[in-house]
Amino acid sequence: MGFTVAIDGPAASGKGTIARAVAAHFGFAHLDTGLLYRAVGRRTLDGEAAIDAARALTPGDLDRDDLRSPEVAQAASRVAADPDVRAALVDFQRAFAARAGGAVLDGRDIGTVICPDARVKLFVTASDTVRAHRRYDELREKGLDISLEDVLADLRERDARDAARASAPLRPAEDAVHLDTTELSVDDAIARAIAEIDGRADR
Ligand code: C5P
Repeated sequence: MGFTVAIDGPAASGKGTIARAVAAHFGFAHLDTGLLYRAVGRRTLDGEAAIDAARALTPGDLDRDDLRSPEVAQAASRVAADPDVRAALVDFQRAFAARAGGAVLDGRDIGTVICPDARVKLFVTASDTVRAHRRYDELREKGLDISLEDVLADLRERDARDAARASAPLRPAEDAVHLDTTELSVDDAIARAIAEIDGRADR
């Protein structure tokens, strides 16, 4: 099994940015597991049953350019509460995590369910307001006409659903290192994550 880094946390906490940077720094492969649920959610918006979509998912589905909207995020969070949908996506994630060259996966249940033996586990958080501002800026940059209030409401609704569900709820693994990025610059947050991984001398 390769070196696996598990990065979990609520929506827009900075985990995706950190995961991408960590992967680039160490030469690891990176999987944004939220895209799996977004791709399934997207297909349900087109009328497909969630479990059929999850079982039929192909890597090409993850490259769709329409997965980033709040509407798709909400659909993702709804399908993600279905244990059968989650079960259908486990093997793909575990195979990715076991890549010989090392892998970084970010999501909600990587350290708790998908990769409980990951060598490094990070749980990334930030205040609601900071997360909403970050996501608002991202979405506006993509040309979406959305208010800060709506972004905040979307994040809070998804976090509440993700944390309350019975199957693989959003929560830190017991051995996760907590990283609060509220007051950190992007560079500082990335540097802290890299330092944690560097701290595992047997890498
Ligand atoms: O990370 P992102 O915000 O793109 O994820 C979209 C939704 O997918 C989350 O709100 C969550 O419901 C679900 N998800 C999950 N488990 C993961 C990754 C994402 O339940 N590992």
